[in-house]
Amino acid sequence: MRLDKFLANENIGSRKTVGTLVRSGAVTVNGQAVRRADQQIDADCDEICVNGRLVRYNAHVYIMMNKPAGVLTATRDSRAQTVLDLLPPELRRRGLFPAGRLDRDTTGLLLITDDGDFAHRMLAPKSHVMKRYEAELDLPADAQDAARFAAGIQSGDDLFAPAVLEICAEDPHTAWVEIREGKFHQVKRMFKACGKTVTALRRLSIGALALDPALGPGDARILQPQEAMLVF
Ligand code: URA
Repeated sequence: MRLDKFLANENIGSRKTVGTLVRSGAVTVNGQAVRRADQQIDADCDEICVNGRLVRYNAHVYIMMNKPAGVLTATRDSRAQTVLDLLPPELRRRGLFPAGRLDRDTTGLLLITDDGDFAHRMLAPKSHVMKRYEAELDLPADAQDAARFAAGIQSGDDLFAPAVLEICAEDPHTAWVEIREGKFHQVKRMFKACGKTVTALRRLSIGALALDPALGPGDARILQPQEAMLVF
């Protein structure tokens, strides 16, 4: 692989930026400064440093996005804007897809990756990965709703497994829900079964990975692989 491609894939910078870095002598391959961006390297074996810091070879990328409302959780759509369309050019790479879905009007934590095994593991029902949401409701939630969530809810043909419902003490129109499944419109349908409509829904965390409060709506950043593993 070319050195500049490797460094760009590792998000050190754009191809142009890393080319300038290499020519400045900031990059070493196995301890030797190199000045040619097109130098061939072996990403698995060579030790590549930028300004003395080792660059790890990540076969996969994990991106955290603060999904805004109005955007589709899909890779591509002929009419609507998708979460992949929102990614800045330096984060784009082949094979990316959203790991799991949020409804078009749902906001908050969304993971985007090119690691199919990671997504499969995260979404597999047997993994029981906890997802936490903040919901705004048309009517105040009450202790009866919390008891129904805790017992599990039947909605049409679907049985939703027991879930945690926490009600905001200051304003019971706000509630926090923790579910371990990921069924279609699950949170909205659980509240619907209790006679309440969700007017806004935001995902706050997946497993122990919380939405970075520094990310504004539509912003995204690369996760360190160890951060991504907080999901499990
Ligand atoms: N539950 C829903 O109802 N919608 C989402 O987007 C996610 C969970």
